[in-house]
This record gives sequence, structure tokens and C-alpha cells, in this order.
Amino acid sequence: MVGIMSTPLVAQEGKGKLSTASNGAAGIPAVIAVLKELVPGEDRVATVPEVVQKLTRSGHEVRIEHDAGMKAFYPDDLYLAAGARIASSQKDLLNGARVVLRVQPPTVAEIEQLDEGTIVIGFMNATNNPGMVARMRDRKITAFALELVPRITRAQSMDALSSQATAGGYTAAILGANNCPKFLPMLTTAAGTIRPATVLILGAGVAGLMAIATAKRLGAIVEAYDVRRAAGEQVRSLGAKFLELEINAEGQGGYARELTAEEKAMEQQMVSAAVARADIVITTANIPGRKAPLLITKETVAMMRPGAVIVDLAAESGGNCELTQAGKTVMDHGVMILGPQNLPARIPFHASQMYAKNLQSFLGLLFDKDGAIVREFSDEILVASLLVHAGEVRHGPTRELLEGGKA
Ligand code: NAD
Repeated sequence: MVGIMSTPLVAQEGKGKLSTASNGAAGIPAVIAVLKELVPGEDRVATVPEVVQKLTRSGHEVRIEHDAGMKAFYPDDLYLAAGARIASSQKDLLNGARVVLRVQPPTVAEIEQLDEGTIVIGFMNATNNPGMVARMRDRKITAFALELVPRITRAQSMDALSSQATAGGYTAAILGANNCPKFLPMLTTAAGTIRPATVLILGAGVAGLMAIATAKRLGAIVEAYDVRRAAGEQVRSLGAKFLELEINAEGQGGYARELTAEEKAMEQQMVSAAVARADIVITTANIPGRKAPLLITKETVAMMRPGAVIVDLAAESGGNCELTQAGKTVMDHGVMILGPQNLPARIPFHASQMYAKNLQSFLGLLFDKDGAIVREFSDEILVASLLVHAGEVRHGPTRELLEGGKA
């Protein structure tokens, strides 16, 4: 095959078993292609050698774009040893591919190279990419959006939102510690006693809980707040203090609902007092599909100690702090406000490993026991995450968005 490098091991294993022409037809395993991520700052890769080994052992042909895993520290030779083939160009990679794995949404140029019926799986971020969705619809591509995987117990192993939020929460705590001019733990030394730093986490979902656990391990005093009262038990189980407000804003599906104006004022007052005494504040508060709630006003920032750090994980959805600028660092009254984007990509080795395992589980729904693609996407997880299929946008809100914009 032109442009495809393979080891003798691959050739042996693949003999009589793998066929690029199979296209995943009934009873015949599929060609799975993994693209190199091109978005600046995206250092993750959609699969890792450990997962490749499992897929190739099941009879699939896995093709990896040359250097796709390089920035996550998975070099080509590890993929080769796991049974993959390395494609030197996108054309060779995608030619005959039945399934394409991605972290970020595919580009329109990539979509043009796919055969009709090709299945693309990854984060699709459809709201911000209507043109990409329309192109996939028109080219009759099948796309599954991992962010639409329902958060039910059976789907936990496929929950890429959670695995990547875990990576983001950890990285946020490290980033905060790294920019804080203080030690986090209490120290008793010959040069005197150092008081522990106080870290405040606003929003105790998946990322927030990981940030709490990380700050606790670094020895800080940790306080946390979430509008969902159920989060209190989880916060306390990590050894942190939960700030209580007489509000329970648990909405549908375990997510938060929007607060009333009166509730917002109460929240603001309590949060401001906690922010003012913190050395590091990590904010992770989000409401799906809406702008992030404003929790820290510029007046509250002015009340903070000089040297304090805010890491705003909600920067990409509008920010939890009034002064946050996505992708930038702002200094105000001696307070550093970080608005990092795509934090999981800053820990690419393990974030990729977790993401690849999520995809491996997801593929388990897509293939039958013979390794062929299931004839119908009837599983509730596949139904919920199916964005585009057979020339139609299947996800209601995205369809409405496209119809509104006449894309
Ligand atoms: P998210 O990223 O949507 O939001 C992060 C946190 O911000 C949430 O805990 C939310 O309650 C909180 N928040 C929203 N508005 C706030 C405000 N004004 N002040 C303070 N906090 C505010 O959430 P997530 O981390 O993706 O998870 C949300 C929920 O889903 C959690 O209950 C989590 O345990 C649950 N979950 C369930 C599963 C599963 O059952 N398989 C998997 C993952 C998450």
C-alpha cells in the first residue's frame, strides 16, 4: 500500500485478516484511522498504543497519521509495535477508512476526503462548528459526538467529558500552585513556621473535585462551593470544607439549574467573602449550553490579597470571573487571573490515554462480536451521541441551529 509503513509483525498479523476494501461490511473488521490533531495547542491524540494493540488483536486495521502521537509522547514506533500502520499522508490514511478517530472536530478539508458513510468519532462542538456539521450532513458522513454521550452508569467508561475534566481539574490546581508566591503546605522549619495556603474551588463537578483532591495533596487548606447540595458530601469526603448556602439548585440530570436573582445575590455575598480570604481560587462552574455563571466580580478581585491567583476553567464559556480573558493572563490589584484554554491538552500523555480508553469502550458498542459495524445504531448511547447520519442532522438542537442559520 503506497505511503503506508508497516512492520513485519503487522504484515504477519494482518495476513488474510485485514482488508482495506472491507469497509467494515458484515463479518469483516474495519479500517480505523487516527488523524493528527491540527488545532494549535491541541497536543492530545485520539488513540494510544495500548488501545491500538487491543483493536488490532480484534482483527481491525489501525492506521495512524505520521507523528499523530508525537506531542503526547507516543512516537510512531510504539504504534507500529502495537500493530498499527503509519500513514505518511492524510490521503493514504483516509483511503478506505471506515472509522476515523479524532479529539477535535474534523476540518472541512478532511471531510472532503472521506467516503460516504465513514464514521467519525470525537468531540464535535457542533454549536461552534455549524459549517463542519453541514458539510458532514451533505457528504453523508456519520458523526458521533462524545460530548453527547449520556451520563448514565453504563456509559461511564465512555465519558470523555469526565475523563478530560479530570485532567483539566488536576492541571488547574498545579497551574494555580505554580503561580502562587506561597508554599501550599504548612511547614515547620528552622527558618520559622509557614502557614498553609487556602485554596477555594468554585464548582465541585468532575474538574472541581479533581482540583480539590490535588490541592489537598499539595497540603493546602481547601474550601469549595457548588450550587448542588449533593456536591457537599463529595467535597467533605475529600477532606475539604463545603461552603453552605440555603439554596439547592440541582436541576435535571445531575446538572445545575440557573439561580433566581435573589439566590444569585446571596451566593455572591458568601462567595465574595471566601474569595477574599483565598490564596488560590479555581473556578469550574458551568451550566450546560449557557454562558458560565459570574461568581467573581471585579470588586471582589479588588478585595483579594496581592499575590492571589485565580484559575478560571470556565474561561472558554465566558468565565466565572468578570476580569477573565480566555487564553490570557490578566493582572489586577496584584491578583493574577488566568483564563487557560484546553487545559486537558497540557497533560497530553495521560489525557490521551484516558480519552483513548473512552473511545475503545465506545467502539465496543459500534462493533458486533465478529468485529463488524452494527447494522443499526439502536443502543441508547449511540442514539444520544449520533450527531449526523445518512444526510441528516440527528441531534435536535444542532438541527434547529442549522435550520435557523439556513446552513
Ligand atoms: P459542569 O462542568 O457542567 O459544571 C461544573 C460544576 O459547576 C457543577 O458541579 C455545577 O453544579 C457547578 N455550578 C454551576 N453553577 C454554579 C454556580 N452558580 N455556583 C457554583 N457552582 C456552580 O459539570 P460536570 O463536572 O460535568 O458534572 C455535573 C454533574 O454530573 C455532577 O453532578 C457529576 O457528578 C455528574 N456526573 C455524572 C456522571 C455519571 O453519572 N456517569 C458522570 C459525570 C458527571
